[in-house]
Amino acid sequence: MRVFNMAQEATNKLIREDFDAGPPSYTEIIPGLFLGNLTAATDIKWLKEAKVNYILTADSCPLPRKIQELLPNLTIKYVQVTDMPREDLLTHFEDSYEFIDHALQLTDKVLVHCYFGISRSATLVVAYLMKKYKRNFFDTFEEVKGKRPFVEPNAGFLAQLKLYEEMGFGIDNTNVQFKMYKLQIAADKVRKAKILPQTCAELIKPDPALATVRPEPTVYRCKKCRRIVASASNILPHIPREKQIWRHISSKRTSKQSKVSRDPLEPSKKEDQQSVEFCTKILFVEPLAWMPDITHNVEGKLNCPKCGTKLGSFSWIAGSQCPCGSKIAPAFYLVPSKVDWSNVVQNVQVTV
Ligand SMILES: [Zn+2]
Ligand SMILES: [Zn+2]
Repeated sequence: MRVFNMAQEATNKLIREDFDAGPPSYTEIIPGLFLGNLTAATDIKWLKEAKVNYILTADSCPLPRKIQELLPNLTIKYVQVTDMPREDLLTHFEDSYEFIDHALQLTDKVLVHCYFGISRSATLVVAYLMKKYKRNFFDTFEEVKGKRPFVEPNAGFLAQLKLYEEMGFGIDNTNVQFKMYKLQIAADKVRKAKILPQTCAELIKPDPALATVRPEPTVYRCKKCRRIVASASNILPHIPREKQIWRHISSKRTSKQSKVSRDPLEPSKKEDQQSVEFCTKILFVEPLAWMPDITHNVEGKLNCPKCGTKLGSFSWIAGSQCPCGSKIAPAFYLVPSKVDWSNVVQNVQVTV
């Protein structure tokens, strides 16, 4: 492996310490949008000739600072990511889209690059094209591969692109798979830090018992003291025996099925034939604000915040196996025999 000092050579190339990405490699995927490697992103001569004024870097290190001295008109966006399947690139899709689209609307040239121009940068380019042309993952990926045959996003990034398509080329915070995705990212952080980092605090949903603005009609209550412990939108439904780990979910599942519009503990009704049968043995839920231990313990019990009855358990890392055989990780669950389902709207209709 060649090791260079960061310096400008006579060839007008910037060199990074860990630099071994091979010769410059870039491909114009659509007019003005280049996908390439680190060598291309530091090839001052080519950048000048090609009139590249925007660079989107998706790498573990930013470009050498000197590049902006040499190219004063250059605008750089830096996304710090490694090429690992569990790395979160999905939450950068929207920002990256704006950056690329802004450049192209100014009819400027934009280079999206990572180290080799194979996985991270290719993922961002595919995501951009999917949203721009409202095209599915498969066709878009084939098109990019047609231009640059060796692009190969890692398995995690491929799953993120498919989830992006499922969410309609945006971020849908109500999508169950997206919730699982975010929980898994948080679980990876808990595994390292043993506590939930502050950056993941948004994952903990408000206490449904305290909801005053448009409270949800369908709620679960502690069987013993009737305190509300979850509302319908907090449920993470699972199909019997199917692993509820977001990137292993089979493609049979659609976003329609991801939204719970009925009591998941009730068997599906006859007129609802298209929906899948959800498991009723364990009630997996999102982490909620009344669960006090979840931010500083990797696992533990979930007791009713009012009467103290044990309602379930949680486990960030090991997850939990439902009696149906389905595994979910991380897992926050309520035992169905400890809670009651109630529909406020129905109750009101009865009393009126
Ligand atoms: Zn209780
Ligand atoms: Zn189950």
